[in-house]
Amino acid sequence: MTLKKRLKYWLKYLRNPTVTLANISCLQPNKRLDGKRIVITGGGRGLGAAMAEKFSAEGARVLVAGRNIDVLGKTAEKIHGFHLPLDVSRVETHGVFLEKACELLGGIDVLVNNAGISLHEQSFFDVTPETFDAQMDTNLKGPFFLAQKTIARWKKMGRGGTILFLSSETGEMADFRPYGFSKGAINSMVQGLAVLFARDGIRVNAVAPGITCSDMTGRDKNDDLAFSGNPLGRVYLPEEVAETACFLVSDVADCISGQIVTCNNGKSVNARWQR
Ligand code: NAD
Repeated sequence: MTLKKRLKYWLKYLRNPTVTLANISCLQPNKRLDGKRIVITGGGRGLGAAMAEKFSAEGARVLVAGRNIDVLGKTAEKIHGFHLPLDVSRVETHGVFLEKACELLGGIDVLVNNAGISLHEQSFFDVTPETFDAQMDTNLKGPFFLAQKTIARWKKMGRGGTILFLSSETGEMADFRPYGFSKGAINSMVQGLAVLFARDGIRVNAVAPGITCSDMTGRDKNDDLAFSGNPLGRVYLPEEVAETACFLVSDVADCISGQIVTCNNGKSVNARWQR
């Protein structure tokens, strides 16, 4: 945290000591991703944009892809990166998208399957075929086929690469919503692909955040962060997830594949005692 940010933090706290803020630690940029060419789906905002900022600060060439070209353009400008339109649920467009992304970046070393939606159905009976399909198409089918096309390219070129999925703590929990099912299936896919392609030099991992500030959760990182549902008593910041993601896509994590790294202070661990 810079001195300016630290001062702002304390001023906010002094004005209202009941407000919950987060004082997080981030590794100082040190060229950890120097020269890596990274595609982030849904990278215009939220966790995707935080990863885009972190990765580019670490020396990566980053391309953000998604549906809102204005939002993507702003993020790309901020990180001196690239942007392309992509609706991940339209799998028939993946081939052309990857061609264009490779042209802009000069190839792809890392794919971050981050785009996702949650329709927050209130009950089991509120789930409709439409909400079911929309979440499965965006959260599971799209990432699956984008990974398939990317891995096929790497194998054809006889080279490796890294895929990072955005799972969720819900992927480790019982659920009645398609969102939870989609993330549970992502966890299975991460482990399956990791084993399948380990000898090709392809690593596949996931980060599985707890409730984090973004449009999806409706929590703003500039507001009170208090949240009793997380063990820390506050919502997480996208920057905290980005730190873990950065480690996983970097060469430092070369021996790590098939792992779902859950960022929720142990909330989803199945303990034998009451917490
Ligand atoms: P967000 O709503 O802020 O961002 C999601 C991004 O995905 C947006 O840029 C959106 O435009 C994009 N997107 C949605 N559908 C798309 C599609 N069909 N094609 C291309 N882009 C599409 O939410 P977020 O919290 O930043 O979510 C990012 C990822 O993190 C998601 O996969 C989400 O499931 C996961 N996640 C978030 C939380 C959390 O608490 N915020 C927790 C666990 C997992």
